[in-house]
Amino acid sequence: MLVLKCDVCGIREAVVYQRHTCRALCVRCFINNVTSRVLNEVRRYGMFGSNDRLLLSLSGGKDSYTLLDVISRLHDAGKMGVITIIEGIPNYDRREGIEWILKRSKELGIDVFLTSFKDFLGYTLGEIVERSRIYNVNVSPCTFCGIIRRRIVNKYAREHGFTKVLTAHNLDDEVQTVILNILRGDIARLVQTHPKGPVLSKLFVRKVKPLRKIYEWETAIYSYLIGFRFQVAECPFIKYQPTLRARIRYYLRKLERRRPGTLLTFLTAIDDMVGSIVGNFTGLPELPRCKRCGEPTAYGRDYCVLCELLDKVGLNALPGRKVALC
Ligand SMILES: [Zn+2]
Ligand SMILES: [Zn+2]
Repeated sequence: MLVLKCDVCGIREAVVYQRHTCRALCVRCFINNVTSRVLNEVRRYGMFGSNDRLLLSLSGGKDSYTLLDVISRLHDAGKMGVITIIEGIPNYDRREGIEWILKRSKELGIDVFLTSFKDFLGYTLGEIVERSRIYNVNVSPCTFCGIIRRRIVNKYAREHGFTKVLTAHNLDDEVQTVILNILRGDIARLVQTHPKGPVLSKLFVRKVKPLRKIYEWETAIYSYLIGFRFQVAECPFIKYQPTLRARIRYYLRKLERRRPGTLLTFLTAIDDMVGSIVGNFTGLPELPRCKRCGEPTAYGRDYCVLCELLDKVGLNALPGRKVALC
C-alpha cells in the first residue's frame, strides 16, 4: 500500500492535506503547525504574556476543544480558568460537550465555572425569546444570546481577577465579521475587532482570539485528532440568525475552494491596514456607565444595550417607561 510521507518530517505518514500550503502533514506536524501559528499570532499582537490570568470562554464545540488544547500547551494551567454558559435553549442538548469540558479541564488542573442565563438573569434564553414574541420585539435570539454571554463572561473575568478573556473564534468567523463590518461601513467596530483595538472602559477585560488565523476545517481536524468524537447538535435558533452572515460564509467558502489561502491573505491584509489607523482610536474617553446596571454603555447613551433589550421584552423596566408585565 502506498503511504504518503509527511512533507515536514519526511518520516511519519501524512494524514492531513493543507491546501493553503500545498503540504501533506502527519498528526504531530499538523498539531505543531497549528500550535506554532497560534503562538505567532499571540506574540505578534501581544495577546497575553506568562503573567496573565486567562479565562477561556468555551461552548463545548470543536473550536473550544482546540482552543483549550492549544492554550494548555502554551500557558501555565495554574493561571487559566474556563467559563461555560448554558443559555437555556429548548431542544438543544449540549451535555456531551459540557461534560467533555469539565473532564478535560479537570485533567489539566483548570477550574471551570459553569453558569447559565437563568442563574445570571433569572430567565433562560428560551424564555426571553418567548417574551420577545409576546411583546412583538424584532430582535434575533442570536443578538440576545451574544449580548448576555459577553456580559456574563466579562463580569466574571473582572470579578475574579482574570486579565484576558480568550474566545475560540476561528479564521472563517473572523473574516465573516470583518466583511460584515465593512459592508455596514462600521469603521469603529472594524477597529474594535482588530487585536490591538482600544479597550474603552476599565470595566472591560481585554478579549483575544488566538485561533483567528486557523481555518475552521483545521479546528475540526485538530479536535478530531486529539479525541473529539461527538457531533454537536445545531442550535435550533440558527434559523433566526441574520442571513447576511450566512451568505458571506457561503461565498467565502466558494472563494477559498477556488483559491486556497484567500481567507488568510485577506485577514492579514486587513490587519495591516486597520493596524495603521488603530492609533487614531486610542485616547478616547472612558465609556459612560449604564444608569441601571453600572456596566459600560456607548457614548451618549444612558442605558446599556442589555438593559434596553430586557426593558423591551418587559423585564427589568427602565425608569420612565411603563411596561406591562404579562
Ligand atoms: Zn511530520
Ligand atoms: Zn445596563
